[in-house]
Amino acid sequence: MTRRKLVAGNWKMHGSLAQLAELDAIAAAARANPQVDVAICPPFTLIAAAAARGDLTIGAQDSHQNEKGAHTGCVSAPMLREAGAKLVIVGHSERRTDQRESDAEVYAKARAVIAAGMIAIVCVGETEGERDAGRAAEVVERQLQGSIPADGTATQLVVAYEPVWAIGTGRTPTVGDVAAMHASIRTKLGDMLDAEAEGVRILYGGSVKPSNAAELMAVNNVDGALVGGASLTAADFVPIIEAAA
Ligand code: PGA
Repeated sequence: MTRRKLVAGNWKMHGSLAQLAELDAIAAAARANPQVDVAICPPFTLIAAAAARGDLTIGAQDSHQNEKGAHTGCVSAPMLREAGAKLVIVGHSERRTDQRESDAEVYAKARAVIAAGMIAIVCVGETEGERDAGRAAEVVERQLQGSIPADGTATQLVVAYEPVWAIGTGRTPTVGDVAAMHASIRTKLGDMLDAEAEGVRILYGGSVKPSNAAELMAVNNVDGALVGGASLTAADFVPIIEAAA
């Protein structure tokens, strides 16, 4: 089965209206490489302006699980969709840590995103201590079991494997470790989603940059990348799009 690669940028709490100028060259690279899906997820405040700028797919970095209600400071999936988002990252390790998001919350958020007609990118990944203890595969399997809607469809569900110790550190797992983890995620998805699992894209994330993108993208079952720091400028992000093509 051939899966279209997806290269998604996660701007985290970075960016400004002025920085949206970077999107023009990123959108041009997306048009020049039509076999790759490309997206940028800026902070909430920039989603509408980013989406209005052109044809580049824009996403969000989180969603509340409810459609509306008394939740001061939160933003719902229908609101994100109305602002122009087409996909939403849920369960990023920074939110699992900083906001103490549980697998059950991530599951509810993923369902809300899918119900609103968007793609949910569900993040999983082990800490350094868990990897050193030989528990990486078990931890990721548990996160998948708890966070992935079992009625998810391949078109609206993406998994991002992001080892916590590789995020923002410049360190990456070996290609052998990436291959082993992505294969184990594919097997687990098969148990959970049956035939749909083959179509679900599994992204690698954690210190992806122009210099290592091609190597990572060539690994079996790596269907693209979730990119933090190197998505902030077109100079870094465009070569990663090209490496996926
Ligand atoms: P990084 O972040 O590319 O800066 O390591 C990846 C992520 O957190 O999604």
